[in-house]
Amino acid sequence: MQAPTTIDGSDEFMPASRPRRVSVLGATGSIGRNTLDVIRHFSAREDFRIVALTGRANVDLLASQAVEFGAEIAVTADEGKYGALKAALAGTGIEAAAGAQALEEAAARSADWVMAGIVGIAGLAPTLAAAQAGATIALANKECLVSAGDLFLAECAASGSAVLPVDSEHNAIFQVLETNQRQAVERIILTASGGPFRDWAMERMAQVTPQIAAAHPNWSMGMKISIDSATMFNKALEMIEARHLFAVEPRQIEVVVHPQSVIHSMVGYADGSVLAQMGSPDMRTAIGFALAWPRRAHVPVERLDFAKLSRLDFETPDEQRFPALRLAREAMDAGGVSGAILNGAKEAALEAFIAGKIGFLDIARAVEETLERLDAGEEPDTLEAVYEADRQARATALELMAA
Ligand code: NAD
Ligand code: MG
Repeated sequence: MQAPTTIDGSDEFMPASRPRRVSVLGATGSIGRNTLDVIRHFSAREDFRIVALTGRANVDLLASQAVEFGAEIAVTADEGKYGALKAALAGTGIEAAAGAQALEEAAARSADWVMAGIVGIAGLAPTLAAAQAGATIALANKECLVSAGDLFLAECAASGSAVLPVDSEHNAIFQVLETNQRQAVERIILTASGGPFRDWAMERMAQVTPQIAAAHPNWSMGMKISIDSATMFNKALEMIEARHLFAVEPRQIEVVVHPQSVIHSMVGYADGSVLAQMGSPDMRTAIGFALAWPRRAHVPVERLDFAKLSRLDFETPDEQRFPALRLAREAMDAGGVSGAILNGAKEAALEAFIAGKIGFLDIARAVEETLERLDAGEEPDTLEAVYEADRQARATALELMAA
């Protein structure tokens, strides 16, 4: 088959002389499965060597992914699942391992490109291990930056590992941020779908179940991020993520509700120009962008049909019903370990909501009270300081929720 070419007739894709070594952390999740799907597609024209695939509960899926892609090693974060994983991989020659330590070691194996697709603060240590080993990091896990932003980026800079944002908003900004015009950037405008309760009254929101909250109107994602979209804590995390990734001041970060999720985010410049990136709401575009970077390659997502897109709407977010955005701004202003506190309290409250212990509106309440109760302190300069803030935030949120 003849390789497709770009408009100027040059090769769209220049395969490297040796297979590219790739690991996928969180391979069994929504980001991980989409990543493997893109790798499957790119494999028609580029050789990949899959180094490590990791997961947690679903070891059957993990094992079948490892077999399909011929991975060197498959790791489950759950030590109790080691036996099952080992049995599923028996006779394949693929290594099996389990537990947090094994996860970090697998993440640190020599690789050119690593997808950071583990959900939550659990993704921090393995992603950092991959960055310290010098791999290019395709960063879906936003908690690395929310909880340990400066520390994480300093480690990436020290090892020379590039960070490519995969979160769709940050990927969009990365695409339209002109690197030689940084001083002319006035604002970054994050778009938000507004989630399933965008126009619901507070009384109705108070009653929602985790199942209803997890049904996102546009994007198909993991359960936790879907509920975070419903509370708008996802956008709160993304504001902090943007601040670190693009080195802008908190006041330069705006959020606009855009229910169609076609514009994935925008950058406003000093001359009044606003550059936007658009596409179908499908994470494979951002993943494919990161996998092909610094070039672009074909990704089989649905193309935007402007004739069918009759309109694009924009609204100001309602911070009465969605206090998360205000809390993100307060956390950015307070500095220190506030990002880790906000995220830790949010993770604890989210788990309590999923377990049916608190109501939907109690999530923001627990985060707000935890941020009020704990001291922002200094910028964390060790992982231990980040984990300590995370532990304290979870404990405080649990105590407040039980009261
Ligand atoms: P998911 O729940 O679908 O998958 C999470 C993955 O992490 C799974 O492989 C799971 O096995 C693994 N995992 C869960 N707990 C773990 C633990 N304690 N230790 C090690 N591994 C663990 O989540 P997702 O929706 O794919 O999201 C992954 C990350 O990407 C999150 O940080 C999310 O915010 C971010 N993100 C996701 C999307 C999306 O479309 N899904 C979009 C933007 C950003
Ligand atoms: Mg996002």
